[in-house]
Amino acid sequence: MVGLAFQLRKPHKRTMSVLTTAPIYELGPDFYDEVSPATFPHATLRYRNQQAAQEVGLSELTADEWQKHFWAFQPLPGNIHKPLALRYHGHQFQSYNPQLGDGRGFLFAQFQTASKLLDLGTKGSGQTPYSRGGDGRLTLKGAFREILATELLESYGVNTSKTFSVFETGETLERHDEPSPTRAGVLVRLSHSHIRFGTFQRLAYLKEPENIKKLLSYCVKHYYPQLTLYKDHELATLFLQAVSHAVAETTATWMMSGFVHGVLNTDNMNITAESFDYGPYRFLPTYDPRFTAAYFDQTGLYCFGRQPASVRWNLYQLGAALQTAFPDLSLDEIFADFGEVFTSQVHHYALKRLNLRNPLQEPTQAWELNVSLVTQLFQFMEEEKSLFEQTFFDLHSGGQPERLTRSPQKDLYTKESFKKLHDTLDCFEIASEERAQHPYFEKETACSLLIDELESLWKPIADNDD
Ligand code: AMP
Ligand code: MG
Repeated sequence: MVGLAFQLRKPHKRTMSVLTTAPIYELGPDFYDEVSPATFPHATLRYRNQQAAQEVGLSELTADEWQKHFWAFQPLPGNIHKPLALRYHGHQFQSYNPQLGDGRGFLFAQFQTASKLLDLGTKGSGQTPYSRGGDGRLTLKGAFREILATELLESYGVNTSKTFSVFETGETLERHDEPSPTRAGVLVRLSHSHIRFGTFQRLAYLKEPENIKKLLSYCVKHYYPQLTLYKDHELATLFLQAVSHAVAETTATWMMSGFVHGVLNTDNMNITAESFDYGPYRFLPTYDPRFTAAYFDQTGLYCFGRQPASVRWNLYQLGAALQTAFPDLSLDEIFADFGEVFTSQVHHYALKRLNLRNPLQEPTQAWELNVSLVTQLFQFMEEEKSLFEQTFFDLHSGGQPERLTRSPQKDLYTKESFKKLHDTLDCFEIASEERAQHPYFEKETACSLLIDELESLWKPIADNDD
């Protein structure tokens, strides 16, 4: 036996134990369906995230044990005893869809670590009652794209789910947006909750206020424990406010990473604000607010520059769902400071990515200096069509002359348009000398993940299994 038995023998110091009763069972059968995983013809391990495994005490699983749990989906001892397809609805491109739910995934296990409740959930693990005619599968390329997104976003400081495991399954799939037949994979994701805005929306649609209250208590107990002393209307208000602030922060980190999620439907929004579900995402080549990631987003609803507004719209849908149980919630008041929190997080993450510290003590002056920096930075990027990631790289630690002259876009930094921004950068201090000296910044080019770079990483895998 692995899992619990293994951990009792040799506990890892960063890990609490696997739960004997997974918290999800507190919600009860109105919230999920027990499902059976698909049986796959072959198992080829393609990705094992050892660091993530360590977080949940599974880093010492043997290769056979890993396969047994994350390909055959035999339950972990003492954990969820049969996979659970979670029930949810959601707004897709702002149209309400009551036919969603885990259509190709399920909740497989939960872990209470010292700091967080973490879930292992799947993608591509077979059909469920919510598959709506879909095959319940994931393409290997989809899994590959999700690995790259989660790793790069994490390195940029984005609050993101982690890719835990990927097996290639030996099946082939037909997809209209990939050369087909194409290879299949099954992915396991490590996530801080799989409760979506749409989980609440479904209960509002079904007119189940008592279940909304139950779900709210579950979310507060496990994800917002600082609110446990509050009750009813006040609790709902503070919960919505906390979600709003957390989501504002995550959105700010996307914007400072040049990241376009692509499908910001309410079923893809986690109540912990953890970013997840990476389908047709893109990273910006150059700053362009209208840049749209998903080919099926024909109106550009979820383009780069609209992400904050889309997220705010989604928050109102979450709020409206909670109104079913708490009719007096004042959503305009609750979400009134979304913009301010978002902007201050933009400042925070811009400085973090640039390794800069604002030296001004007086809050209004400090705020204005941050506004100048961010405004001038984005104006410069827009006017000069500079490479998004390269610009952040070049200006890391203030835009030091030797770095600027080494850059593939060095000519831009001799232009008049850069002068004002350079003067503003000079008003800041370096936040960390250690970061400033990191060998990564001795390179000429930034590490980026533009679509052609992603495709060129995929090609040898597709052509030669390399
Ligand atoms: P997504 O666009 O990945 O957020 O998925 C939206 C909805 O479609 C969810 O209910 C998914 O479970 C479902 N879905 C997506 N792809 C498939 C598939 N290949 N088979 C079954 N359901 C799917
Ligand atoms: Mg989704």
